Amino acid sequence: MNIILLGPPGAGKGTQAAGLESRCGMLQLSTGDMLRETRKADTELGRQVADVMDSGQLVSDEIVSAMIDAKLADMPAETGAIFDGYPRTEAQAVSLDEILAKHDRELNHVIELEVDVDALVDRITGRFTCANCGEGYHDRYKLPETEGVCDKCGHTEFKRRADDTEETVRKRMEEYRGKTAPILPLYEQRGIVTRVDGMASIDEVSAALDAILA
Ligand code: AMP
Repeated sequence: MNIILLGPPGAGKGTQAAGLESRCGMLQLSTGDMLRETRKADTELGRQVADVMDSGQLVSDEIVSAMIDAKLADMPAETGAIFDGYPRTEAQAVSLDEILAKHDRELNHVIELEVDVDALVDRITGRFTCANCGEGYHDRYKLPETEGVCDKCGHTEFKRRADDTEETVRKRMEEYRGKTAPILPLYEQRGIVTRVDGMASIDEVSAALDAILA
């Protein structure tokens, strides 16, 4: 089983992909996470990627498609892939078809998380994660039970994404509307798109995803 999670920034793709990983044994392939690793490196590519990400624009199609190809090459054939944040342009959607064919995989579902765009800025600008285990939190909706201590691993340091500022979020939304949403009709023609209400609670969205994949 190979699926794409689509939706604007803050729709809950990362949260849901992590849930599916633990419930279904699939593997989350997040180009955003891969690029955040790349930008940490003190290299020319790392600096270029950081600049593009912090402006809210998209990194080049070639770079992200090569990352996905490399990850799939390393994965056991029986492990399903959850594409999170990829593809984001028509060129990437075309590359994904080629990459999947090369690795003898099929695309089973494209799930779009539908969200109220006004609520997203609020969601995104309040989110933070445990610096150790990556558990997600939110200033207003999900604070750790004990202030300053991660519920999951007990760590006391947290981090926020450099691109979760209001200005960058607006640009990322614009990129989604202009470049990513237009790839949906491509998958609709194949009859593999399902829409899920991304404004529902995390558990409700998880249940909806499980029903689609069952
Ligand atoms: P995300 O974590 O998916 O919200 O991605 C964060 C940032 O990484 C985006 O705003 C882009 O700058 C970059 N990025 C992530 N995935 C892609 C992709 N598939 N194509 C181009 N840029 C991407």
